[in-house]
Amino acid sequence: MRSEDSLSHAMPADQAFVTMATTDSYCMGALVVGQCLRRHGTTRRTVVMVSPNVSSQARDALGHVFDQVLVVDLLDSGDRTHLYWLRRPELGVTFTKFHCWTLTQYSKCVFLDADTLVLCNVDELFEREELSAAPDPGWPDCFNSGVFVFRPSLDTHVRLLEHARQYGSFDGGDQGLLNTFFSDWAIRDIRKHLPFVYNLSANAIYTYLPAFQEYGHNAKIVHFLGLVKPWNLRSNSQTNQLINIHLEEFVYQWWTEYSYTLLLIKNKWPKEPAGP
Ligand code: UDP
Ligand code: MN
Repeated sequence: MRSEDSLSHAMPADQAFVTMATTDSYCMGALVVGQCLRRHGTTRRTVVMVSPNVSSQARDALGHVFDQVLVVDLLDSGDRTHLYWLRRPELGVTFTKFHCWTLTQYSKCVFLDADTLVLCNVDELFEREELSAAPDPGWPDCFNSGVFVFRPSLDTHVRLLEHARQYGSFDGGDQGLLNTFFSDWAIRDIRKHLPFVYNLSANAIYTYLPAFQEYGHNAKIVHFLGLVKPWNLRSNSQTNQLINIHLEEFVYQWWTEYSYTLLLIKNKWPKEPAGP
């Protein structure tokens, strides 16, 4: 057993960035997550969890970018009523995220949604403890589960599933459940509140534009939260519908990263989204 001291000086090989994709479309996002982490020189391992239905081409492509491509079973909240209120029936599969707690070969991990764009090296996130996350722009007493620091633990995994079975999720997705599980996040320890620039929700750019103009240059991770994902915006006219020029720039940057990644891995994967 390791002492507290050796844990606090854990080697980077003990630590990993983790993302997830259950469709080939989300794999496009995951590919960009992995490539950006790499390009910005992370010293940590990179892991992508995929469900069995993900195509072999997509898995292949991910294998060029990530240290580990892990096939996990789909876990669906099956909670249609709650998802109805959120108008996002596809989010049930986000329960699959909980598999990340089983990655016990790592002592600490940072989870990143596949719809995030990492703009610089963010390895300092590993200095934080479980469960660290940034506020959700819609309800800032809840954390947004697109970026969070956690400690893999089979015990926590079992308790999360039990919590899911007993209480469900108030929004039908992983965020609702994680917020009731780590229920003291809002008030317990300010160090577990990541600055908003680590999970800059795309919609915050237009809901509070002056703040974006003041602080936006500090952005470290952009999160394309919501229905519209960059991989669904292929033409300029579609991107223009975003109205906001800053958001447009991030979508453009996402496509630049994506195209560059395909070049790097020698176009082993179709350029066009395969659809959900
Ligand atoms: N996800 C997935 N397949 C899906 C929906 C979601 O793999 O069909 C994963 C993916 O990593 C995604 C995360 O779950 O980034 C959370 O979903 P999403 O980002 O769409 O939710 P939002 O951030 O918009 O609330
Ligand atoms: Mn997301």
